Amino acid sequence: MQKSQGLSYAEIRSSILQNIPQEIGITRIEFEGPRLAIYTKRPEKLLEQSHIVASIAGTIKKRIVVRSDPSVRTTEREAERAIKEILPEEAGLVQTYFDPTLGEVVLEVLKPGVAIGKGGSNLLEIVRRTRWSPNVVRSPPIPSMTIKQIQGYLYSKSKERERFLRETGESIFRPMYSPSGDVRITTLGGSRQVGRSAILIRTRESSILLDCGINPGTSKPLGAFPRLDVEEFDLRRLDAVVITHAHLDHCGFLPYLYKYGYDGPVYCSQPTASLMVLLQGDYLDVMSKEGRVAPYGPEDIREVIIHTIPLVYGEVTDVSPDIRLTLHNAGHILGSSIVHLHIGKGLHNIVYTGDFKFGYTQLLQPAAHQFPRVETLIMESTYGGPKDVTAPRMETEAEFVKIANSILKRGKVLIPVPAVGRAQEIMMVINKYMERGDLVEVPVYIEGMISEATGIHTAYPGYLSNGIRDQILREGRNPFESDYFTVVKQADSRDEIAEGGPCIIIATAGMMEGGPVIEYFKRLAPWEENSLIFVSYQVAGTLGNRLQSGLRSVQTFNSNGKMEVINVRMSVHTVEGFSGHSDRRQLLNYVRKMRPTPRRVFLVHGEESKCENLARTISRFRGVQALAPGLLETFKLA
Ligand SMILES: [Zn+2]
Repeated sequence: MQKSQGLSYAEIRSSILQNIPQEIGITRIEFEGPRLAIYTKRPEKLLEQSHIVASIAGTIKKRIVVRSDPSVRTTEREAERAIKEILPEEAGLVQTYFDPTLGEVVLEVLKPGVAIGKGGSNLLEIVRRTRWSPNVVRSPPIPSMTIKQIQGYLYSKSKERERFLRETGESIFRPMYSPSGDVRITTLGGSRQVGRSAILIRTRESSILLDCGINPGTSKPLGAFPRLDVEEFDLRRLDAVVITHAHLDHCGFLPYLYKYGYDGPVYCSQPTASLMVLLQGDYLDVMSKEGRVAPYGPEDIREVIIHTIPLVYGEVTDVSPDIRLTLHNAGHILGSSIVHLHIGKGLHNIVYTGDFKFGYTQLLQPAAHQFPRVETLIMESTYGGPKDVTAPRMETEAEFVKIANSILKRGKVLIPVPAVGRAQEIMMVINKYMERGDLVEVPVYIEGMISEATGIHTAYPGYLSNGIRDQILREGRNPFESDYFTVVKQADSRDEIAEGGPCIIIATAGMMEGGPVIEYFKRLAPWEENSLIFVSYQVAGTLGNRLQSGLRSVQTFNSNGKMEVINVRMSVHTVEGFSGHSDRRQLLNYVRKMRPTPRRVFLVHGEESKCENLARTISRFRGVQALAPGLLETFKLA
């Protein structure tokens, strides 16, 4: 019998028992997803002598969590009292949640560093006195309903969650009967098109799905969703789904897998786990408002929550007997990840970029480009065409500031944005230039799902650009909470804003296909001193796109359902270059600068002509083969 990449469960068990002194009182050793949980009657001893756990983790090549045996824990009420005594006041304890299944207590605090204490001293004291394992999380300064709902739901289902994690662990470390081989890639969606991204990676042993998106550009089932109906895809044999980021063209179809019986894990970054629940829920709302039938319901999104295993960037995780996964920063939206798969023992390495930005932005660091090994690169090509070269970001910002300044002397600026990503990027640009005194200081109103998405951004400062992260963590000043911003909570404030003095309004939806932006547009459009500034891509046929192309008379319905015609006298501007995607130059640079250099590049997630053109250009690089796979094509990689 061929072992999995590491040791068998029996070998792991005996290695642990041999290396841990008997006095520590181990009662159980169990899989917890890709990690291993050691239950003990003296958890504090293992934490005090952390070298023991570190050395075992090194030997068995798995992450280990130490948990307490239920018999030794204090009651929740006693624990709560002890925690309040131990934590310093400045830590700002907001809430505690207990998970009796795992013996974990989540401490939601304002200042995680203060709560943890020097060298983790406060946490160790909590374990000593209560035998509950504390898990410190940052309380987002802008509260997020989504994060609260996810936490509440996970805690209410903690037994189910424990069973799922144990079964997943057993499946990941199952014995292998033949050596790893026959690495194949099949494109199930998102090839030679933008939308419904889904790529299947198979070996003789395992099967992994990278992304599972919808195509917002069509409602025909054969074109709207990934082609999961083909024989290459077998839901029962699927080991894992990996989601690169929360945009619906990458994760919008995920709940459907659970509706049809998938009960395995989803891996993604921590922020993606929150953002995708927000966007999948919004997708169902929009579908129901438009009177359309969604392919799944809210109960299927809840299944996604139970089955999600969030990872941090750089954490190496076994996801099947012969595949190891690591996520790296992609620089596209909060939590967006580049996926690295290590297959077999050095047999083959795949890097899948998802959507990525290999360049400077306010909000995020540029995409990671160094990996331990890479043979195959799967890269997006959204802006892969010969004409897709945008101005440097600093020039883009300067152009935006110049246009806004000229309008704000007398009028108001309306900026339609998608709720996640571009909204926060524009907020950071505005905050930066107003603080510097380069942009006229006026009130900035924010309406729509933006504030919920912004709340999620403030919960994960470690995923933001170094500049913004340092402002939040070191200087204690959160640019998302800047005094310039006012969140509009009531619809009746809109009239007041529209009748008031110069201001900036940032509102959803990004392509003006609905949402509060329409309400502001109706009020501001008839006056020539006002301006509409587009900062994101407008799909052909949308209202945003028609206004960009010169439409000057718009028919809409008023609140009584009566048709009204709006004459557009406001100026319309488009500032290109705020994109979260790499432009053509950045895509080519990425292949050039990636270390090590990949031998083969697959171009996906782009219009047909752009994928093909990019493939032709890259195949001229020395030693690199490049191609643009069509839908449902399969290639053998190793
Ligand atoms: Zn995206």
